[in-house]
Amino acid sequence: MNTKIIIAIDGHASCGKSTLARQMANMLGYTYVDSGAMYRAVTLYFLENGIDYRNKGQMVSALKNINISFRYNEKTEMPETLLNGQVVEKEIRSMKISEMVSPVSAIKEVREFLVEQQKQMGKHKGLTMDGRDIGTVVFPDAELKIFLTSNEKIRAERRFIELHKKGIDATLEEVIHNLESRDYEDSHRITSPLYKAGDAIELDNTNLSEEQQLEFALNLVKEKISEIEKGDN
Ligand code: C5P
Repeated sequence: MNTKIIIAIDGHASCGKSTLARQMANMLGYTYVDSGAMYRAVTLYFLENGIDYRNKGQMVSALKNINISFRYNEKTEMPETLLNGQVVEKEIRSMKISEMVSPVSAIKEVREFLVEQQKQMGKHKGLTMDGRDIGTVVFPDAELKIFLTSNEKIRAERRFIELHKKGIDATLEEVIHNLESRDYEDSHRITSPLYKAGDAIELDNTNLSEEQQLEFALNLVKEKISEIEKGDN
């Protein structure tokens, strides 16, 4: 498959978007970007540096000092997020950040700052990116858009297990409450709310294993690329 495309994966919190986007990128030899990690890193910067994000002047000037990058960790075989050169993978997954990230993500200037960088990452195609506005705002022309959904109880349980594996303390009730409030805030904000793009394919993974979900998505990629290549001939 010589043709490289952009794959946008959106959906509510803890639907398995990152897992799918990462596995697809591995299989296709694409770059994977976790856009949520970028919103989390900005939130961490504000928290660590005592930035009042409701103070527009202070917040906008703080954005100028934020540099977010990703690198692959050979040991864990997972990508990790860097904030101004420091690995912050564990810090950005804490409950404190999960509680603060949705209000920070609702700020127009924060979104403009990150969306610009995300668009640059897709310049050469061959990219999977997951988030909330990838198929609607960041890459409205993405060749393939997937909107993932999953049963709420299963999402909370998956998140709870994932956090504990990472050594992050949280009760199941806290996780459920956090998912509900983030989903509500992310879907009801004024700037770039979460919704399914008209041309996105909905994939409910409640009863699918990771392998089945990946196989389904890779078939969509194959179909899309063959459609594009036929159109070119
Ligand atoms: O993907 P994850 O759950 O880590 O995202 C954390 C938060 O970042 C979301 O709840 C949302 O507020 C914000 N986000 C966003 N737009 C994106 C990705 C994430 O607003 N494209």
